[in-house]
Amino acid sequence: MSRPSESVVDGSKASPKELPSIDLLLRAEGAQALLTEHGHTLVANEARALIDALRARAVAGTLSRGELQESVLQAALAARVRQRLAPRMKRVLNLTGTVIHTNLGRALLADEALQHVLQTMAGPNNLEFDLGRGGRGDRDELIEELLTTLTGAEAATVVNNNAAAVLLTIAALAHGREVIVSRGELVEIGGAFRMPEVMAAAGATLVEVGTTNRTHAHDYARAINPRTGLLMKVHTSNYAVQGFTAAVDEAGIARIAHEHGLPMATDLGSGALVDLQAHGLPHEPTPREKIAAGCDVVSFSGDKLLGGPQAGLIVGSRDAIGRIRRTPLKRALRVGKLTLAALEATLRLYLRPERLARDLPTLRLLTRPAAAIRAQAEQLQPPVATALAPRFSVGVVELLGQIGSGSLPVDRLPSAGLAIAPLQKKGAGRALDELAQLLRSLPLPVIGRIAEDRLLLDLRVLEDSGELLAQLPLLRERLS
Ligand SMILES: *Cc1c(COP(=O)(O)O)cnc(C)c1O
Repeated sequence: MSRPSESVVDGSKASPKELPSIDLLLRAEGAQALLTEHGHTLVANEARALIDALRARAVAGTLSRGELQESVLQAALAARVRQRLAPRMKRVLNLTGTVIHTNLGRALLADEALQHVLQTMAGPNNLEFDLGRGGRGDRDELIEELLTTLTGAEAATVVNNNAAAVLLTIAALAHGREVIVSRGELVEIGGAFRMPEVMAAAGATLVEVGTTNRTHAHDYARAINPRTGLLMKVHTSNYAVQGFTAAVDEAGIARIAHEHGLPMATDLGSGALVDLQAHGLPHEPTPREKIAAGCDVVSFSGDKLLGGPQAGLIVGSRDAIGRIRRTPLKRALRVGKLTLAALEATLRLYLRPERLARDLPTLRLLTRPAAAIRAQAEQLQPPVATALAPRFSVGVVELLGQIGSGSLPVDRLPSAGLAIAPLQKKGAGRALDELAQLLRSLPLPVIGRIAEDRLLLDLRVLEDSGELLAQLPLLRERLS
């Protein structure tokens, strides 16, 4: 720089006049290396932003001369460039105890799905090309046979997510008409997805029948009139109505609908493609059961219990799926090639049900035995305790996790993990918040949950302890 080098400890305040020009900053050796690697635009923009930020602080009288040393400036510039290029979306360690966590990306993709995405995206592919006939194909054909095999439905299609699937189903089957739904099922899924509003967006009129806790077959039958377009059942996935309750099952609603020549659709929410009870988990309704019960349309998510990418799967009768496909909205809600590649590979895993608990991460994680998780917690306790000493105590605890994403809302998954508590009672809440924030700021952010004055790290989703262990030295350093 223009000024003679100063000692590292120069804490006196710099004036704006002492700032180097952008030109001068870029001529230094460090900046030249950055320019060679990244080109002029990015490095110059960051140099300008750096000088602007320093000027603001110099004007405010908070900039020390030490920060204007050449080595310090060059390091600051390199850090800015690195930060600008670092992706905002990154992997995290989900130690919340919720396996399918909507805020943390829901289902983890299987290796086969990841590999299939890589292989098919590296070049052109047959997304909409029929390799047999040598002409234009339909992207639905890539997964339709798999979905009909796995659900027993006649036909299937796929859209961006299950919310889109519900919107599209209503728009296709009941635009300008009435849709009958039980009052006990007018769900809000979160993120502004509320049944009454979805109905309105699809151009249909909601007709509520029954009461919050009890709806009977005659409630549906009496509500049917010449304006009715569709009878619908919504799986109450994120809450449970318990006590003095009555509801009509799919078979009952479908029978009433068909007696009046109307279609019946069900929004299953999560939907599991296999019987979870066979894996020691609580029962979750399957699309196959609902098709067998007579539903004309069943929709469910790709990234909940199915364990695939975000998608909305719609299976049903050839007639209903055909109407859904012909709706203009379908084109606006269709899935892209990345989704289809991941979905196809995920669905193929279901052709080998005996291998599923090994190959499909969602099922593998949900079926991890609590004893194995506890053993892992016992192994992790000593190194984590060492890293957090002397401010925090670390204990092994039994925990109750959950499946997540509205699947099986009242069932809990027995699990185990670490409970971290501040040793000083005074300011304990703040100490926990700071620790949680520190864990989130690690290169591979660690997300736990705070409950009853402890930070809980549920280990069900952490199959590889190494990823946590590797960050402990850095955690210890940042804590001290
Ligand atoms: C999760 C859920 C949805 C929304 O599905 P997305 O795939 O998240 O769009 C709709 N209905 C029910 C009942 C659900 O549980």
